[in-house]
Amino acid sequence: MKGSVQGVERFDSPGKGRGLRVTKPFKVGDLIFSCPAYSCVLSAKERGSYCEYCFNRKEGLARCGKCKKACYCNATCQRADWAMHKLECSAMVAFGPNWCPSETVRLVARILAVRKTQKEKHPSEKLMLIGEMQTHVEDVDNARREMNEADIAGLHRFYSKHLDFPDHSALLALFSQVACNGFTVEDEELSHMGTAVYPDVALINHSCLPSVIVTFKGTTAEVRAVTPMKRGDEVLISYIDILYPTDDRNSRLRDSYYFTCDCQECRTQSKDKAKLKVRKRSDPYEPEVVSNMVRYARKKIGEFRAIKNDKNILPGGFQGSLELREMCVQSLDEMGAVFDDANVYMLHMMYQAMGVCLYLGDWDGAIHYGEKVLKPYSVLYPAYSLNVSSIYLKLGRLYMGLEKRSQGLSALKKALAIMEVAHGKDHHYIAELRKEMK
Ligand SMILES: [Zn+2]
Ligand SMILES: [Zn+2]
Ligand SMILES: [Zn+2]
Repeated sequence: MKGSVQGVERFDSPGKGRGLRVTKPFKVGDLIFSCPAYSCVLSAKERGSYCEYCFNRKEGLARCGKCKKACYCNATCQRADWAMHKLECSAMVAFGPNWCPSETVRLVARILAVRKTQKEKHPSEKLMLIGEMQTHVEDVDNARREMNEADIAGLHRFYSKHLDFPDHSALLALFSQVACNGFTVEDEELSHMGTAVYPDVALINHSCLPSVIVTFKGTTAEVRAVTPMKRGDEVLISYIDILYPTDDRNSRLRDSYYFTCDCQECRTQSKDKAKLKVRKRSDPYEPEVVSNMVRYARKKIGEFRAIKNDKNILPGGFQGSLELREMCVQSLDEMGAVFDDANVYMLHMMYQAMGVCLYLGDWDGAIHYGEKVLKPYSVLYPAYSLNVSSIYLKLGRLYMGLEKRSQGLSALKKALAIMEVAHGKDHHYIAELRKEMK
């Protein structure tokens, strides 16, 4: 890691390879380090809401005169972004509605462009960190391989005018690196804004009991302590949503990151029973009934995700969203015969239902599901969790919008308490939130 970061160093983490640890104590809420993006890309669907260059959110952004798609705070941001935007600007005009590279392809194109300018500027220097990131080309399964091949085809199709590509195997390695090390950039409500690569943050290992949280200020990643840390403690983030039981977490980690976690929670599985809570009955359910319902739940979650991704429904189509809401209602009905309302599979579907309701403008529905999710979330997630603060925030904003001021204020206050730790007290989200509460 670069010398500019104080208070943290690389080390060989037993059983995990390279990792990061702190060289001095940190309190809850302390900024451990921040890391500018090596490369980043704003989601195509967020164009118009955020500046393409600095990810600043504001009204009245100025559009690129040529493609009429990319939006900027001002001429300074536009000029600064041109080295990246020129990869897409004329291609978007030429391809019109047929311009559809995946977000991963867009990011990889930018990484290749950054590398090229670095090579031109510093021909003798070793290329920046991205070469050090883990690759797992040999571990990639067939589905992922097919996706990578499709992405490589997309890269050639949409970006060949501006880039020279390395050979096929080097590209496969790069896509595999980006899949493991790319970060989803999210706003305070956990909406997806874009994807980025942060070389120093990519050095942080996973734990289901994380010691830090990563948030974003513009395109810069900030790493803050969410547990007290003493000198020598490893910096650990969660790569996945830690709501789910141990088996689910580890199959997710194996599928996406090619390892199994052996943190304290994975060893003791202390929360699994609460996470899989079943309804109270005088004669308990047969284990088979419960395991069948778990299988059903996992299948439904997969189906829901496939439909949502496939049709790119949110945001996109009213009809599709009605279909998704119906799917939530039906599966909640089915699972509710066996599972308690605080069971994580129920919570998963209620959370999805809340999202669909928000999209459909069904505020009462969104509040109904949000309120049900909130209490179990606060128990199952750690003390400072963005999953919890984002629900408080969404609910608080809904209440305020519906003139339920006291409920709104109380929810927003709870969001604020978590965000002051996770985002830092000086983050513009905090200032915006305080203004909303006035
Ligand atoms: Zn800007
Ligand atoms: Zn343009
Ligand atoms: Zn674990």
